[in-house]
Amino acid sequence: MSRPPANPDESPSIVLRYEHAASVVQRQATRAREEAIRLKKRGVERVALADAPGRVLAERVAADRDQPPFPRATRDGFACRTEDLQAGGLRVAGQLRAGEAWTLGAIRPGEAVEIMTGASVPHGADCVVMVEHVTASDGRVSLREPRAIAAGENIVPAGAEARAGDLIVEAGRRVGIAEVGAAAACGAGQLGVFSRPRVAILATGDELVDVMEKPLTHQIRNSNSYSLAAQVRAAGGEPVAFPVVRDDPDATEKAIREARSCELILLTGGVSMGKYDFVEQALLGLGAEFYFTGAQIQPGKPVVFGMIEGTPFFGLPGNPISTMVTFALFAGPMVRALGGESDDKPRFTMARLEEDVRVKAGLTRFLPARVENNFRGARVRRIAWQGSGDLAAAAKANGFLVVPETAERVAAGEIVAVLEI
Ligand code: AMP
Ligand code: MG
Repeated sequence: MSRPPANPDESPSIVLRYEHAASVVQRQATRAREEAIRLKKRGVERVALADAPGRVLAERVAADRDQPPFPRATRDGFACRTEDLQAGGLRVAGQLRAGEAWTLGAIRPGEAVEIMTGASVPHGADCVVMVEHVTASDGRVSLREPRAIAAGENIVPAGAEARAGDLIVEAGRRVGIAEVGAAAACGAGQLGVFSRPRVAILATGDELVDVMEKPLTHQIRNSNSYSLAAQVRAAGGEPVAFPVVRDDPDATEKAIREARSCELILLTGGVSMGKYDFVEQALLGLGAEFYFTGAQIQPGKPVVFGMIEGTPFFGLPGNPISTMVTFALFAGPMVRALGGESDDKPRFTMARLEEDVRVKAGLTRFLPARVENNFRGARVRRIAWQGSGDLAAAAKANGFLVVPETAERVAAGEIVAVLEI
């Protein structure tokens, strides 16, 4: 069945500045997340704690008891009453290890208990004097030399970190290293996490062959399906790979129709002005609504974003670096929001520029770059590239240096933003 393609003259032309395009996506992303959660469209799974890192919490994690649950000694030493310390030596009433309960009652005046880090400080004691600061012999202990010891020293009071019932990690947070540790401390052996949104990946192009095939000289390996799948996964989504779509209006329409079983559709290629770029037309033929059909960015200018019968879609340009950058800027936030994650903004690192950068003003640029970090800050230098098809340059880079649309030159030493991929 061959239908005449939709009239390209009908296709809207909405080209937005970068920040405007980003805010349009962000608004739709927030709406998608709120709807998914409010209408309980987003599935929830229970996973073992060990499998939770990388997932998004569907429920809060609360403290199941006070933390610490007892006044915790933070040093090896002697627990005693500060007021007794200056008076001379103390009688050592016993020894207490982490994991042991003290059963001999409150510490009495003139007494100390030898205590290990992590043990519960006995009643009556209000400080722990570090073992390094005392001399002990014949059942007695005294300060090596006069020193001021404040009440509370080397003790974290019960409940100082959190009270039973307090919020430890809120719903909507991606489980990372601290979150999984905190959940374990709360006894959460399983966590309720949101199901991953299924994201359709449709690469278009007659020149494309699969990575396992031997390309002819004029053919190109389909790398975008792989890099996009990796980006989708990193954003918390489940990539669903579709077969490569040929540069034909009917084939493109059919593929998009099939991809509507997913929650988000990503197309690559076919969104430029070429004679065989059919993506916009096919979307238009299927009744899509476009929020923008281009952004004032480089790479990635032809990116399109819209909604087709309630399903968001992005037409990402086919050049591999353009695909990568437009995903990071626009599609990634949408994937994260659909997955219920509240932190869904693109991620930027600030870094000091090592060498001058000159560009033509008018477009916000994202240039492949390498950031080196240490505790004093981050430095960034450009990676030479042959333009938005240069995957070899991208593989040497670890981010994309941002040059705002108004700038023609950024001087060495300036602090710049670097887009994380
Ligand atoms: P297009 O956006 O379709 O005009 O494609 C722009 C450039 O990106 C062309 O050089 C394509 O060969 C290349 N390209 C398009 N899709 C892919 C893909 N899936 N993997 C690698 N390169 C691609
Ligand atoms: Mg193409």
